[in-house]
Amino acid sequence: MKPHRIAIVGLGKIAIDQHVPSILGNPYFELAAIVSARGATVGDVPSFRTLDAFLTEMPDVELVAVCTPPAGRFALVRAALQAGRHVLIEKPPSATLGEITELAAIAAAERRVLFATWHSRFNPAVEEARKRLVGQRLLRLEVNWREDVRRWHPGQAWIWEAGGFGVFDPGSNALSIVTDIAPEPLFVASAKMEVPSNCQTAIGAELTFSTPDPIEGSRLGAVFDWRWEGEQSWTITIETTEGTRLTLTEGGTKLFVDDVLLVDEPSREYPRIYERFVTLLAEGRSDVDTRPLQLIADAFLVGERKQVEAFED
Ligand code: NAP
Repeated sequence: MKPHRIAIVGLGKIAIDQHVPSILGNPYFELAAIVSARGATVGDVPSFRTLDAFLTEMPDVELVAVCTPPAGRFALVRAALQAGRHVLIEKPPSATLGEITELAAIAAAERRVLFATWHSRFNPAVEEARKRLVGQRLLRLEVNWREDVRRWHPGQAWIWEAGGFGVFDPGSNALSIVTDIAPEPLFVASAKMEVPSNCQTAIGAELTFSTPDPIEGSRLGAVFDWRWEGEQSWTITIETTEGTRLTLTEGGTKLFVDDVLLVDEPSREYPRIYERFVTLLAEGRSDVDTRPLQLIADAFLVGERKQVEAFED
């Protein structure tokens, strides 16, 4: 089979760490171009300063992976779709719900595949958790996403700007898992956000959730904290009225059921994302799930804000 030719737009941390090796390691793809405002590239792959230049000069490259920050992505994704390319995008899919809804409509109108990835979902432990929760009712949901922003996002100014998501950027990984495995819809009941005095986005947030028919005494919530310098924690614990008790740790790579380790596989999130892209392309089907973004948007709608001390990178 002839490989799909693909271009990466935005050669930053995640593109270099994950997209490039996943594309190079998958025989169904050929890395054909890079679009980089800085003029960066990989080896001798042709590099273009603008998306328009790439779209004009390489009409035979059918796929685009957009790895820029969410703000500003709408125009790039729309241009690529309208130029007849299938598009894969990093999470969170866009700066607003309105943008991703419109992009999904454009993809449908253009008969192109749009794949809005949520990388944390691509772990076998997450799949197993989903299966085990089918048909059950949530009694307890505890998300603890505590990490050190200086360690994971050094020098990334955009995350502190309006539309940059702040702590909801990693928090969206937790919300993507929770919306994937929860056996019933979740709403944001309340939210508290801590915003550094020199930033536009939160460094800490606490959410409480409800469900359409909440169980009396249920406790459903999430804590996202970017000031955590101790042991980093990305855990989700769930208890159901049926007695299931499971914990996903290390961002969804390990699954414990009743404290017994059941799934522990090395993370292959990005190779699996590209395997799924192959399937979506073969089926001519888009995959755009806006539920994690909806929860973030709703946290902004109902949330209280508190100003906290300035953040210096
Ligand atoms: P990054 O290191 O800042 O890279 C983003 C790249 O996008 C830049 O290098 C730049 O590439 C391009 N770009 C275009 N417009 C930009 C702007 N206004 N500000 C900054 N860069 C701009 O960011 P990243 O960590 O790779 O994150 C990109 C996306 O991937 C985000 O949505 C993030 O949530 C997601 N993601 C990140 C990680 C992670 O561990 N970092 C993990 C999973 C998902 P050029 O100079 O080449 O144009």
